Amino acid sequence: RAKQGGRSRYEVFDDDLRAHLDARMDIELGLRGAVERGEIETWFQPIVELATGRPVATEALARWRRPEHGLVLPGDFITVAEEVELIAEIGGSVLDRACLAAACLPEHLSVSVNVSAKQFVHGDFQARVATALELSGLDPSRLWLELTEGAVIEAVDSAARSFQSLRASGVKLAIDDFGIGYSSFVRLRQFDVDVLKMDRTFTAGLADVPRDRELAGTMISMGHALGLAIVAEGIETTTQRDILEELGCDLGQGYLYSRVSPVAAPAA
Ligand code: C2E
Ligand code: MG
Ligand code: MG
Ligand code: MG
Repeated sequence: RAKQGGRSRYEVFDDDLRAHLDARMDIELGLRGAVERGEIETWFQPIVELATGRPVATEALARWRRPEHGLVLPGDFITVAEEVELIAEIGGSVLDRACLAAACLPEHLSVSVNVSAKQFVHGDFQARVATALELSGLDPSRLWLELTEGAVIEAVDSAARSFQSLRASGVKLAIDDFGIGYSSFVRLRQFDVDVLKMDRTFTAGLADVPRDRELAGTMISMGHALGLAIVAEGIETTTQRDILEELGCDLGQGYLYSRVSPVAAPAA
């Protein structure tokens, strides 16, 4: 801040805020019509069985191929999309592509799609899922929907009901980034989810942070007690994988196995 010279703190703050708002506005304007223009792409990362390394599913991850900007990551546009009501359109497009791609994969492979709270609280989410399944011909049991703990906590009764009927139709429900939010195992039982994705901060701490290792172990055994499959996110080293396997974790995902790629078919 030294080079700001004699300017007051407030002027500097104003400039920062303005730059931030300008950047958001720029993203919002760029996002409008992005789906129609074909700029939203669906990329994939395999989810593997830890014991064998064999893929069981692939997670669909949104990418925005923005003209003159290159490939934009979700961290730079999903929040804005949620705030300006574009998430249903963008998420719907990712869902469609994910189901179409999965329908071309061998039957033992599922596809996992991220759903933001804004999307599923919306009244017609269930119908949107049904459309994607119909269009692709994908068996509902091969579709996993990933929701964050926050989304589960905020879920209004109608959303909870829509959950249950989605699940009744065969779709699998997963809790994403588990362990960093405020969800509880009681809540998980109420929601009757199928898969628990343990946030990658726990994976990152496994080798060096004893507490993370204990927490991971506890989440895995409590998850199993509820009959859930556990996916460890962000596995980057063989040490992490070995510890997870020892802790009884079922599935994993991360750069150790595969980067995120535009191709749906996982190797092997
Ligand atoms: P997520 O669902 O937890 O997805 C995992 C993120 O971790 C991805 O980031 C992936 O690239 C990254 N990752 C995978 N393996 C590793 C690893 O070994 N190490 C590290 N450090 N990172 C790894 P990405 O693709 O940038 O997505 C970020 C987040 O954006 C996602 O987190 C998800 O919450 C959200 N997102 C992505 N696509 C969509 C979408 O279509 N709809 C919605 N609503 N959200 C999405
Ligand atoms: Mg996810
Ligand atoms: Mg995640
Ligand atoms: Mg995560």
